[in-house]
Amino acid sequence: MSSGKKKLKDLLQQSDNRTCADCGAHDPKWASPTIGVFICLKCCGVHRTLGPNVSKVLSVTIDEWADEEIDAMIEVGGNSSANSIYEANVPEGVKPGPDASIDQRTKFIRSKYEHQEFLQQGLKISSNKTTLQASPSKKLSFRAPSSSSAPKPEHVDGAIGHLKFTILQGANLAVRDMLSSDPYVVLMLAEQKVQTTIQRSNLNPIWNEELMLSIPEDYGPVKLQVFDYDRFSADDIMGEAEIDIQPMMTSAMAYGDASMFGDMQIGKWLKSPDNALLEDSTVDIVDGKIKQEVSLQLQNVESGILYLEIEWIAP
Ligand SMILES: [Zn+2]
Repeated sequence: MSSGKKKLKDLLQQSDNRTCADCGAHDPKWASPTIGVFICLKCCGVHRTLGPNVSKVLSVTIDEWADEEIDAMIEVGGNSSANSIYEANVPEGVKPGPDASIDQRTKFIRSKYEHQEFLQQGLKISSNKTTLQASPSKKLSFRAPSSSSAPKPEHVDGAIGHLKFTILQGANLAVRDMLSSDPYVVLMLAEQKVQTTIQRSNLNPIWNEELMLSIPEDYGPVKLQVFDYDRFSADDIMGEAEIDIQPMMTSAMAYGDASMFGDMQIGKWLKSPDNALLEDSTVDIVDGKIKQEVSLQLQNVESGILYLEIEWIAP
C-alpha cells in the first residue's frame, strides 16, 4: 500500500469517520476530497449529482487517489471537523438519518454543500478548482461577505454618517492552533457586525480590507475582536480592543466639509492606561478627507498589535 493510501485508511479509522458525514450511516466507504468528508453509498449518489466542482467522490477501497486528494482529506481532518464548518448552524431535525429517503438526503446535502446554508454566520466557502489543482492545501478559501472591495454601508435608521475602517495589518498575534492561527477581525457597533476575511496560518497578517459602519446618533465605542478561525470548535478569541470614536466624530462634526480645509490635525485620541492605544492617535484632514490612524495593543491576550485607519464618510 502506498503511504498516501495508508494515511487515508488511518484517517478513515478515526472514530468520527466511522459514520457518514451526511446521514450517520455506519462504515462509509466513499469520500469527497473536494469537501473532505467520508460518506456512505447512498449519500455518495447524491454528491455525484452536485457535480465534481462541488463534490468529486471517490471510493476509499477501489479508486486510485491522487496525492493531493489524499492531502486535501487530511487537511480537513475528518467528518467532525468538516461538519463543524458545514453544519455549524444546522437547525434541529433537519439532518437526515441513515434510512432517509433520497429526496430528504438530496435536500439536505444540497443545502449543506451547494447552498452552504448551515455555515457559521458571515462565512462562505468557495472551492476553486484551479487553486485546488495548483495547491491542494489552499483548497478552501474563506471569505466574509463584508469584504468586497467596495463595502456598502448598511442602512441604519437615524445614522448621522459612516465610518470606513481599513483593517491594515496585525503583528505578533497570539498562537491559537498548534503553531499558528487563522485570524480574522470583527467590528461591532450597536446591532452591526462586520468582519474581514480569514488569513490562513498567519500571525502577521496583512488585510488592507475596508469595513463600513453606520454611526447612530447615540453611538458608543466600536468593539474590535480578533478571532482564530477554528475548524474543530468555536472560534478562539485572540484579543480585543475598544475604539473610542468620540474624537473622530467630534472632529468630523466640527469640520463638516473637510474638502474646504488644507491638511491639518483636528483631533486626538490620547493613549492612556485605560485604553488599548499603542500611541496617541491623531485625527487629521488629509487631501480633504478626515482620517485617523489607530494602533492598538490587543487586550486580554498574551500578544498582538493591530493597525487600522478610520475615515469619516459624510451622509
Ligand atoms: Zn450517508
